Amino acid sequence: MKKNYRIAVLPGDGIGPEVMQEAYKVLDVLKKHFFISLETEEFNIGGIAIDSDGFALPKKTLIGCENADAILFGSVGGKKWNKLSLQDRPEIASLLALRKHFNLFCNLRPSKLYPEIKYLSPLRPDIIQSGFDILCVRELIGGIYFGEPKGEGIKNNSQYAFDTEIYYEYEVSRIADVAFKLASTRKNKVCSIDKSNVLQSSLLWRKTVNKISKKYPDVNLSHLYIDNAVMQIIKNPNQFDVLLCSNMFGDIISDECAMITGSIGLLPSASLNEKNFGLYEPAGGSAPDITGKNIANPIAQILSLSMLVRYGMNLNQIADKIDYSVNDVLRKGYKTLDICNNDNYVTTSKMGSAIADSLINGK
Ligand code: NAD
Repeated sequence: MKKNYRIAVLPGDGIGPEVMQEAYKVLDVLKKHFFISLETEEFNIGGIAIDSDGFALPKKTLIGCENADAILFGSVGGKKWNKLSLQDRPEIASLLALRKHFNLFCNLRPSKLYPEIKYLSPLRPDIIQSGFDILCVRELIGGIYFGEPKGEGIKNNSQYAFDTEIYYEYEVSRIADVAFKLASTRKNKVCSIDKSNVLQSSLLWRKTVNKISKKYPDVNLSHLYIDNAVMQIIKNPNQFDVLLCSNMFGDIISDECAMITGSIGLLPSASLNEKNFGLYEPAGGSAPDITGKNIANPIAQILSLSMLVRYGMNLNQIADKIDYSVNDVLRKGYKTLDICNNDNYVTTSKMGSAIADSLINGK
């Protein structure tokens, strides 16, 4: 029997609801023109949920996500909720809580340089001449962001604070497995990032990655220290295929990769667990500076939906078509303000409609 997919849609704060409207246009095309049986249900999350329900992650939202096959997430946070304690703010109380609840240990962040907007990259033209296509595979629920103990105190009349970087072998093994598997569907290269010249946890990281690599003889494995990796990405991004990173190093590296593509508004992400359940969201945040102006770039949200179709539904050919439609509209000259170098930019809604139309035409 044909599978019916249930998607929990969580637009959130800031530009989240605006760009989600454009993802809905693509979802509509998937239903009407590709005959995918799917239903969506929308739930409050983040700051807007604090205002309406008193919690950033209301019970109803959590249950809705538990009953879904995948989560399509917008963004959360904004100035209005910055006065709350760190633990109660939308980002920690909703997004990090969802990652933890669903055990979303694997974060995928593709960064691709589109030839049509090469001029936006801050890198020299000769460096980006051949483009690049990097997939950052980041461990998402371990390492220093969650390691215990963490805390603060006063000793010898001085305040102190500390965090713990801790990795278990099974945590490194499972994320390494994902990186090698995905590399074998791409250019067969994994570069693992660590700081094993200084950190004990990185020594285990490297040892474990080496062990896992034996299962994938066709994939070429290299290692770089984080300080060298950030330099190499700027020097020659095209040398990389899959970057395998711990939580903190991946946080840094994936933003660097985002920056050299030109705009955060282009970059999707997927966070998956061992059962392949995933949360799909743009790499950027709620962008309060451009909220409500119909100028946000909806591409990151639409490509997040494409990742949902690829990894959550295993419909690779349809995901390829969505990606192609994004390429197609860029080639035709549709550009939102963030990626436009003149005054001829299109609105959020026009960009979304153009991508949806292209998807219908390319069917
Ligand atoms: P941000 O990513 O929201 O914005 C950084 C810059 O990128 C801004 O100039 C913004 O206009 C631009 N930008 C982001 N997305 C864009 C898009 N789709 N199109 C065009 N331009 C885009 O980061 P920030 O300003 O540091 O954070 C704003 C709020 O978002 C904060 O409350 C932060 O905590 C939150 N945040 C949420 C997430 C998330 O929900 N996953 C991620 C990062 C930040």
